[in-house]
Amino acid sequence: MGRSPRLFVFSGPSGVGKGTILKQVLKNRSELHLTVSATTREPRPGEVADVDYHYLSEDAFTELLAKDAFLEWADVHGHRYGTLLTEVDPYLEQGNSVILEIDVQGGFNIRKSRPDAVLVFVDPPSMQELERRLRDRATEDEQTILLRLENARREIELAKNYDVRIVNDSLDEAVERTEALIDQYENDGGATDDVCD
Ligand code: ADP
Ligand code: 5GP
Repeated sequence: MGRSPRLFVFSGPSGVGKGTILKQVLKNRSELHLTVSATTREPRPGEVADVDYHYLSEDAFTELLAKDAFLEWADVHGHRYGTLLTEVDPYLEQGNSVILEIDVQGGFNIRKSRPDAVLVFVDPPSMQELERRLRDRATEDEQTILLRLENARREIELAKNYDVRIVNDSLDEAVERTEALIDQYENDGGATDDVCD
């Protein structure tokens, strides 16, 4: 059976480990393309422009919106984030699957415009562990951490409507399950349901 490139959306609360899982998956599967989103938020220390995000001014973001350059966009935590079409379609056309790491709101928008997209939600083992990971990462101030924890509860509630859920408890297991589900959806369209929890 042939392998078909697919669009995968990865969502989950900030700090759950999406970036950590996907970094490992991409090391093992270098043909996958992880889209680089555009954002109006400031870079965090250590982040690299056009690698982590395309950092845009409010005006530049608005201008691209007017040109219909985005597959989707959303306001998250008070900043605008979006996926440019140029980050998606050229890769699918070349036969490579594309992964979007975006919030739940963005995931549902993608499902409307691209019904074949596979929506994957990464769950924390517990809210306590999520809070610990967010605090240990030490990239946000207290107010931002509290806002992100509040959003996490809302996102976990909405995740009921996602196609697949992965609990990021053991990192190795989460990476293995992610690779297995990508294989499965590329190979048979995800017709069997044994990748779901
Ligand atoms: P996200 O991309 O979802 O915001 P990150 O990938 O930045 O989250 O991970 C948040 C923090 O949690 C990081 O410090 C990371 O090292 C840690 N982390 C990720 N996965 C695990 C795991 N399975 N067990 C323990 N810590 C983890
Ligand atoms: P962070 O600021 O921590 O990098 O990301 C904050 C949130 O924005 C995360 O929930 C992340 O999934 C979401 N996000 C990042 N890029 C995009 C995007 O292109 N579109 C949408 N809708 N959300 C995004």
